[in-house]
Amino acid sequence: EGRETRLRVVLRVRPLTCTETRRGDQQVVHSLGDGAVHVSAARHDATFGFSAVFDAGASQEAVFEGSGMRQLVELAVDGFSCTVFAFGQTGSGKTYTLMGPLAQSETQPASPALLGLMQRSFTCLLEQSRSRGSDLALSASYLEIYNEQVRDLLSPGPPCALPLRWSKTRGFYVENQLSVEFESLEAIVSLLLQGSQRRRTSAHALNRHSSRSHALLTVHIRSRAVSAHPAPGEGWGGSACPSKQGALCFVDLAGSERVKETGSSGELSVEANSINRSLLALGHCISLLAKPRGKRTHIPYRDSKLTRLLARSLGGSGITLMVACISPSSRCLSETLSTLHYASRARRVTTRP
Ligand code: ADP
Ligand code: MG
Repeated sequence: EGRETRLRVVLRVRPLTCTETRRGDQQVVHSLGDGAVHVSAARHDATFGFSAVFDAGASQEAVFEGSGMRQLVELAVDGFSCTVFAFGQTGSGKTYTLMGPLAQSETQPASPALLGLMQRSFTCLLEQSRSRGSDLALSASYLEIYNEQVRDLLSPGPPCALPLRWSKTRGFYVENQLSVEFESLEAIVSLLLQGSQRRRTSAHALNRHSSRSHALLTVHIRSRAVSAHPAPGEGWGGSACPSKQGALCFVDLAGSERVKETGSSGELSVEANSINRSLLALGHCISLLAKPRGKRTHIPYRDSKLTRLLARSLGGSGITLMVACISPSSRCLSETLSTLHYASRARRVTTRP
C-alpha cells in the first residue's frame, strides 16, 4: 500500500486457427519457457520477456492461475482498485481469454473448462465473500466506449451516451451509470451475457465476431462490518463500522487494425479510426508513464475516453494486470511485434496502490 508497484504483464499466444493452418501460415512465435518468447521470421529475430507466457497449449485455467488473476481478486476484496485488461490485434484472443467462447455462441453454454478469466474471477470472488464471513456487498456496472461515446450496457432501451466527468475526489467517472447488485454467480454471469449481447459487434474480414468497442465491466466490492444489531436507520458504512471499497475491472479492448487489411469502409472505417485513435492515446500514455517518475511529463489522459477511464489503473492508485494477446502466424508478424513492444513498455509502468 502506498508503495510503487509495477504493472504485471503476461502474454498469451493463441493456437493457429483452422484458416491459418489451412492456408499454410508459418508459426513465427515460440515460447522459450521462464516468461521468454522468441519471434523469428525472415528479417526479424527478437526475444521478449514477461511475467508469464502462455502458449497455444495453455488452458483457460492455467491462464487464470498463472497470470496472478486470483491474487488480483483477493486484493480487490481487500479494498484495492484492480484492473485487468486484454490487449492485442483483432482476432488475437482477447475476448476468448476474458470470457471464453461463450461470447460467440449465446445459445450453447460453454463447457466449464473453457470459461474465461471473468467467470473464474466471479467464482473466486463469491467464494472469498463466503469464506471471509464479513459481508460483502457486490454490484456490477458494464460500459462500452463506441466511437468515443460512453454507453451503458446494462440499462434497458437503446444505448445512449453518458457524460464522463472529473472531480477532485473521484478522478474521472461516468455519470448516471447503472450499477446492479448481485449475490450469485448466475446473476453476474447473466449480467455479463446481457451486456455482451448489446455490445456493438459487426462483421468484417478479419474476425466475424470482432468487437467494435472497448468494454469495461466493473465489479464494485463494499465490505461492511457485520453487526448483530444494526442501529435503526443506520446505513452500511456509517461512521460506526468502517467499510472498505474495492473494485475489479475487466477491460476488453477493441483490437488495433489497419483499415486496409480488414477491408473496412464507410461506417466500419469510422469505427476503426476511433478505435485506433483511442489505442494510440493509450499507447502514448503508456510510453510516457514508462519513464521514471522524476522524468515524467504531463500524461495526456484527456486525449481519449478510454485513457480517462483507465487513468487510475495506469498511473494512479490501482493495481493492474495486462494480458497481451498475439497470434503465432507469420501473416500477423507486424501487429505481433507492435503488441510485443507495447507490452514490454507497459512493464515499466508503475502505480501507487
Ligand atoms: P479478439 O477478441 O482479440 O478479437 P477472439 O477472442 O474473438 O479475438 O478470438 C478470435 C478467434 O480465435 C475466436 O474464434 C476464438 O475462439 C479463437 N481463439 C482465441 N484464443 C484461443 C485459444 N487460446 N484457444 C482456442 N481458440 C482461441
Ligand atoms: Mg474481442
